Order: sequence, then C-alpha cells, then structure tokens
Amino acid sequence: MLFLNIVLSLIYMATYECPKCKMSANITCGKCEAPLKDSSLKLDNGQKVQICECPNGHGKIKSPLCCGQDMSCQVA
Ligand SMILES: [Zn+2]
Ligand SMILES: [Zn+2]
Repeated sequence: MLFLNIVLSLIYMATYECPKCKMSANITCGKCEAPLKDSSLKLDNGQKVQICECPNGHGKIKSPLCCGQDMSCQVA
C-alpha cells in the first residue's frame, strides 16, 4: 500500500541535490505546484526512507537516487 502510493506519486516533483556530484533536480507537486516538504518513512523492517510529500496532501515520493545514494531534499 505504502509502496504503491510512492510509485503512483512519482509524477510529483521536489528539489533534490546529490551530496556527491551536486546535481540537483527541481521537484514540485504536479497538482498544486507547491514545493514538496522533506519527510521520512520507517519501513516494517526498520529501514528509514527519505521522502518528500506535498504539503496539501496530494502525494509523496521517495528520494531519487544518484551516485548510488539517496539525494537529499532541499525544500526549505
Ligand atoms: Zn550524483
Ligand atoms: Zn499538491
């Protein structure tokens, strides 16, 4: 259920920057164009996943990967 939400929300965008190569990507909500806010999820196995979600509840995305690690969300 949770993963399904994340996959379905990949159309939404937020701002991420790779800590290694400094590549950045602008990501905003596809519905209301609000900058997504930084958040995190704890999986059943205890693993923590950084995500961004729309402040207006339109959806959430998992952080994109770059250089083999999660890019950090730059949304203020
Ligand atoms: Zn990178
Ligand atoms: Zn939204």
